[in-house]
Amino acid sequence: MNRAIVFFLLALLFIPWLAFADEFERDRRNMVRSQIRARGIRDNATLEAMRNVPRHLYVPAVQRRYAYQDRPLPIGYGQTISQPYIVAYMTEIIRPDENSKVLEIGTGSGYQAAVLAEIVDQVYTIEIVRPLGEQARRKLKAQYGNVHVKIADGYHGWEKHAPFDAIVVTAAAEYIPPPLVEQLKDGGRMIIPVGSPFQMQLLMLVEKKGDGEITTRSLMPVRFVPFERGE
Ligand code: SAH
Repeated sequence: MNRAIVFFLLALLFIPWLAFADEFERDRRNMVRSQIRARGIRDNATLEAMRNVPRHLYVPAVQRRYAYQDRPLPIGYGQTISQPYIVAYMTEIIRPDENSKVLEIGTGSGYQAAVLAEIVDQVYTIEIVRPLGEQARRKLKAQYGNVHVKIADGYHGWEKHAPFDAIVVTAAAEYIPPPLVEQLKDGGRMIIPVGSPFQMQLLMLVEKKGDGEITTRSLMPVRFVPFERGE
């Protein structure tokens, strides 16, 4: 057979690989269509970010093949990466844009921070479990220059970079930490699960109106890992 023909046939074999940036891109597109768009998420920036972030790189290697399934997954240290839909929901509701400065409490795997980093200007994220924070910092640094990870008790927020346009809390607190409300900009939005550990919790939206007035609204029942307190 002519060499050129052999080359052409070999090239044909690689087309499926060339069509997708990575082997999981198809799974990711399916995830966005069937789990996220289908449930009503419409914000284009959020959908695009969920299509872009390689979620499989933020879960432990043994969980990789489940990365795009419709559920949370264990990430070690008793913690979990949230279900993709919840990440999308929390992202959309804070109305992120390219000028936003966002604070996240509970870096965990770093996945939610990565989704935010795709959309906003700067992401500040705090994790209380040191090895998780360090691992997420390494992964995020390889992909994003606009994410800053601190290892600390997020109850106190990150005063130095306050105020924030939005705050995303990904561990369930018994009450809304006052320092976080303080560090929210006027006109800013905070999303936070509130409730006792391992009981029903409510995802709450806290808004600071222009005149400093604060409103809270409960959105839906959820289950998050507990908000831990440092020394
Ligand atoms: N956003 C994460 C979800 C991780 S689960 C992700 O995308 O993977 C919640 C995380 O909050 C856990 O890693 C837990 O260790 C962390 N956490 C709990 N209490 C905290 C606190 N007071 N300050 C900072 N992080 C906290």
